[in-house]
Order: sequence, then C-alpha cells, then structure tokens
Amino acid sequence: MDVLQLDVSGRPQAWLTAQEAATLYASNGIAWTLGEPFLTLRGGIQRTTGLQSRIELHPIVAVRGSVPSRAWRQTPALTSSKLFVRDRHVCAYCGGRFPLLQLTREHIVPTSRGGVDSWMNCITACRSCNGRKGSRLLSEAGMELLYLPYVPSLYEDMILRGRRIMTDQMEFLLACVPAGSRLHG
Ligand SMILES: [Zn+2]
Repeated sequence: MDVLQLDVSGRPQAWLTAQEAATLYASNGIAWTLGEPFLTLRGGIQRTTGLQSRIELHPIVAVRGSVPSRAWRQTPALTSSKLFVRDRHVCAYCGGRFPLLQLTREHIVPTSRGGVDSWMNCITACRSCNGRKGSRLLSEAGMELLYLPYVPSLYEDMILRGRRIMTDQMEFLLACVPAGSRLHG
C-alpha cells in the first residue's frame, strides 16, 4: 500500500512507498497524519534504550516545510494511463468499456491538424473507433463524443495516479474533487 503525502497545508503532493514514508518518519519530517496506522515497521535495536525501534505508518501524512505554491497551480501531466482512468476505460465514441490494451489516447482535433496533446483535446477511444476516425475532425467523420474531456484537479490527479488507494485516502481526495468529475460516478 502507498502513503499519500500532503504538504503542511493539506494539499496532495505524491504517493510514497512504505519505505519512503518510513524515512520521513525516522527523520522527523512528518507534521501531522490522518487515518489509523495500517502498517508497523520494525527497525534495529536502539543502543541507548535496548528497545527495538518501531514506526507506525498512517495512510495520509503531511510533511514539514514550506508550501510549494507553483506546483499547486500547474496542470497535472497528461499520461495515457491517467487519461483512461479519467474516462473510466470507456470509449468516447462507441461507449464500450475496454481492457487497457484496446484503449488509445485519441486526439479530438488530430495533431496533424494542429490539435495539441492536452487534457482538453484528448479522450479515450477504443482501437477500432480511433482507426475509424483517423485524422479527420469530428464533423468530417460524422462522429460525436458521448462525454466531454476535462482537466483533472490536483486532488483528482492523485486518484488517477494511485495504484491501490486505501479507503481513508479515497475519502480524503474525493471530498476535494469537483462534483462534476466522472470519478464520483
Ligand atoms: Zn469505440
């Protein structure tokens, strides 16, 4: 399970492996935590006390330090895997739900026609619909989008990036995801 790292103001920053989180605990880098501990790591015997060190990992940790405001304003990076989760693995043209191998990152305005590689110009399509549309515009191909693209918020992006998200983490992130997001559906 991964740990959700926040900055000290509560904005999500990253997913950490248990080992990375343990390093933060050990260096006193954690400001506060949310949720019940889900894992206890045991370290070496401390020479002074003779006790074995123990670190309890919480699902959500806020790290000490200043708040990087620039990162907060950036649009989340677009990747195909995140795009497919945003669109719930559903083809925007035929409405079918497909396994990853059948999905493609479809440019609504083709890049060959000046379309950009952005969250707003990309949608999930199955291989066959992508091939059918080719390098045409929607109007030229006589095709319509069954749902619309959107730019995920930073909270939503953390969900799109997560591998196995614990309930505490999902509740925290979803509470900040805009009501219109497909992730609520
Ligand atoms: Zn399709």
